[in-house]
Amino acid sequence: MTRTVPLFLEGRFVDSEASEWIDVTNPATDEVIARAPVTTDDEMARAIASAKAAQKAWADVSVSERARYVMRYQALLKEHHDQLAGILAEETGKTFADAKGDVWRGIEVVEHAMGVPTHLMGEAMAQVAGGVDTTSWTEPLGVCAGITPFNFPAMIPLWMYPLAVACGNSFVLKPSEQDPLTPMRLAELWQEAGFPDGLLQIVHGRKEQVDTLLTHPDIKAVSFVGSAHVGQHIYRTASDHLKRVQCMVGAKNHSVVMPDANREQTVNALVGAACGAAGQRCMAISVVVLVGEETRDWVDDLKAAFEKTRPGVTGDSGAAYGPLISRAAKERVERIIGTAESEGASLLLDGRGYQVDGYPDGYWVGPTLIDNVTAAMSCYREEIFGPVLNVVHVDTLDEAIEFVNANPYGNGTSIFSDSGAAVRKYRRECEVGQIGVNIPIPVPLPFFSFTGGKGSFYGDLHAYGKDAVRFYTETKTVIERWFESDIPDGHGPNMTINLG
Ligand code: NAD
Repeated sequence: MTRTVPLFLEGRFVDSEASEWIDVTNPATDEVIARAPVTTDDEMARAIASAKAAQKAWADVSVSERARYVMRYQALLKEHHDQLAGILAEETGKTFADAKGDVWRGIEVVEHAMGVPTHLMGEAMAQVAGGVDTTSWTEPLGVCAGITPFNFPAMIPLWMYPLAVACGNSFVLKPSEQDPLTPMRLAELWQEAGFPDGLLQIVHGRKEQVDTLLTHPDIKAVSFVGSAHVGQHIYRTASDHLKRVQCMVGAKNHSVVMPDANREQTVNALVGAACGAAGQRCMAISVVVLVGEETRDWVDDLKAAFEKTRPGVTGDSGAAYGPLISRAAKERVERIIGTAESEGASLLLDGRGYQVDGYPDGYWVGPTLIDNVTAAMSCYREEIFGPVLNVVHVDTLDEAIEFVNANPYGNGTSIFSDSGAAVRKYRRECEVGQIGVNIPIPVPLPFFSFTGGKGSFYGDLHAYGKDAVRFYTETKTVIERWFESDIPDGHGPNMTINLG
């Protein structure tokens, strides 16, 4: 049955007055399972106004009390972990295990937000000058906004609003229109945790609704996760409207494999990192750089492992991954695979036209392995976002580093090797923001920040961890002196910039 996705407006779940609606499909069946509203201008204005009003009172709630709300939320998320994963799997097509992982990585960020009293502690120093003390205080910004992508509908919204609100802000979330049901369930649990009305608002829609958030004077900060093209628009527009902005965007992640790496472990890791979530991860490994003549025949092992990997529906325990998110995404991935041979690469395994028994309308793409790829080819230049691994051959580690650094993106990379010296060289010389050593997908836990770099990130402060605490707060510094006496004889006004 087709459900109508409500707005979370002014503390209530309400049906939108929208005249335009967006279909949400089950990617394994192509069935429309829900429709999401294109939020009206009036509803957008109400969401922002209500968030602004709620934030004023919230900033006066003690920080330990705010932390207790987050603790209740964390407990509810854990209690409903399976249910959330079920909703998520239906609208994304992910395997149940992967859907649970998506929710879990979000819960971990909520757990980090529970420590907000410690995170918000400022700095203090007595006697920085004669009779002068200095303290720094962390204050909330006001109303923050978040715009999130389809590929992690639990984890990425949870990167944002729990911590932003714990820091004393309110939040307007515009989740992906392709899978809004998971964020709405997250919001129901938020309400159940008892947060005061209006601290979290959820609106739906596309560019027009996002642009309202980017340009509205009451939105103080914007967090965005999505494609590079859209991220550039978000960064430029929100900055132009003098907002704080962080944009975590597209990627092309390389794994460098040295001849001394553990062959079986490496091949196994690469299959999961390339095909997991159907390759629809910003940290997916989409390029393997094999170093040296000795690694040439590792391609045979990769091919054999890819051949054993297959997609399937959520309940199929043998399925390694699910369908792509949409028909358009499948067609795009198939188009890029289609350029490989004509541009000179070797298409060792072709996932186009893949069929899963009983699900003829699903957006399936089979595991795809492309060998002898060069930097000029379309399959290398474009972010494929599908279960596709490009294989590049180089002779030395220096060449591998040069190849990786020439790529405009810098979200994540990994190196597989037994040599400390090679690993250390790679860690120091590659220009990528997150590096795995014998770990294919180096996504840090939330006490660190998600430090994707170069063309994969626009902004200064990254998602979650210490960076995010700073992103969602303003630092206020107080320099104070208390007079113990009147001005001694001979001392007039101080005309220098010294504190004295
Ligand atoms: P997308 O850019 O198409 O959409 C992201 C969000 O932006 C959605 O909410 C969408 O409604 C909105 N949007 C779309 N077009 C817009 C426009 N013209 N103006 C304003 N808003 C617009 O991204 P997607 O396809 O949902 O997600 C996949 C992309 O996200 C990939 O490129 C992936 O690498 C990236 N991603 C990056 C990270 C990271 O941390 N770097 C994490 C996850 C995903």
